[in-house]
Amino acid sequence: MKVVGIIGERQSQLMEEPDPHAHGELALVKIIAVPMCTEYKGFASGEQTCCLGHEAAGEVVEVTQPSRVKVGDRVVVMPLYACGQCPLCLKGDYIYCQHQLDFQKVTGQATGNVTYAQYLLKQDWLLVPIPDKVSYDHASMACCGLGPTFGAMQRMQADAFDTILIAGMGPVGLGGIINGLFRGLRVIAVESHPYRAKLALKLGATAVINPQEADPLGQIMDLTHGLGVDKFIDCTGVPAAQRLGIDAVRRRGQVAFVGEGGNLNIHVGNDMLRKGLTLHGSWHFNLGDVPRLMQVITKSAKLLDELITHKFAMEDIQRAFELQLTKNCGKVILYPWQKSGSLAT
Ligand SMILES: [Zn+2]
Ligand SMILES: [Zn+2]
Repeated sequence: MKVVGIIGERQSQLMEEPDPHAHGELALVKIIAVPMCTEYKGFASGEQTCCLGHEAAGEVVEVTQPSRVKVGDRVVVMPLYACGQCPLCLKGDYIYCQHQLDFQKVTGQATGNVTYAQYLLKQDWLLVPIPDKVSYDHASMACCGLGPTFGAMQRMQADAFDTILIAGMGPVGLGGIINGLFRGLRVIAVESHPYRAKLALKLGATAVINPQEADPLGQIMDLTHGLGVDKFIDCTGVPAAQRLGIDAVRRRGQVAFVGEGGNLNIHVGNDMLRKGLTLHGSWHFNLGDVPRLMQVITKSAKLLDELITHKFAMEDIQRAFELQLTKNCGKVILYPWQKSGSLAT
C-alpha cells in the first residue's frame, strides 16, 4: 500500500509498504478520507518518517472473527490503541488509557497503525459506525475537526446560557465554533491570521479578536459587559493565548486546555482562589458521547462544508502540506485512493 513519508525539510512523497491484514479484534479499514491535523509541523522541520496521521474515515474490508463491525461497514477511526479493559477504557475515557497495545507485538505487523495511508488496522470497538446519510468527509470531522472541542464542551457542560472564548482557529479550533453554535453558545474567537479570522466569522463566531492588536483583553471585556466570558477553550498550546483566556474568563468560570504545549504560569491566589476557576485538561471525547457528536455532524452539514476548505489526492501530499504552511485553509482532507490532481481545490 501507499503511505506518506517525510523525506526532508519541506519534502514529502508517497512510499510503498506491505499491506496490513486483519488480526484478532483489529479489523482492516480501507481509508477513504484523511483529515490533516498538525503533521505539517513535521513536514516543516523535516523529521524523516513514514508514520503520519491519526484521523480517518473508511470502510471495513477484512475481519478475522465475529466482531462489532463487518466487511462493508462505513466507520470513523478513533485515535490510539487503548487496552479496552482498564477502568478508563470501560468508562469510555479510552483516550487516557495507560496501557496502549504494543501494535507490532500484538499484530506481528509493522504497518497499519497510521492514517496517512491506504489501509489501517484498528480494534473493532474504536471504529464508530457512520450513519447512512452522513458522508465520509463529514463523518471524519468526528476526529480532531470536532472531537476535541466537543469533548471540552461536554466536560464544561457548555450550554446556551454561555459565552465561550476559543483561541486558535486552526484544524481543531474552527470546529469549536460549529460545536458552540449547535449548543446555542455565543462564540468569541481569538485568531490573528486573516484567512482563519474570516473563516471563523463565516462559520458563525460573534467576533474575532486579533491578539496582536491593542488590548485584546479589553475587547473581550467590552463584549461581555465587563464580566468576562463564561468558558474558554485553548486550541493553541501557546502560553500567551492561554493567559489571555484565563484573564478573560469570569469569576467561577471554566477553562479547557485542548492545544498541546507551553509552560503556562498559573497563580494559585489570583487565578484559582480569588477567581474560583475550574481548569480542565481535555484531549478528545468520551466514547459514550458518540451518538451526540453524530447529531452535531448530521445537523451541521452546511457548516462542515465551510470548515472543509480543501481536498487533495494523497498523491498530492506535497501541495497539501505547502498549503497548510500558509494557513490559508480550514480543514484539509486527503484521499488515499484518488489520482493526482483529481481533487485539488
Ligand atoms: Zn485501557
Ligand atoms: Zn488531529
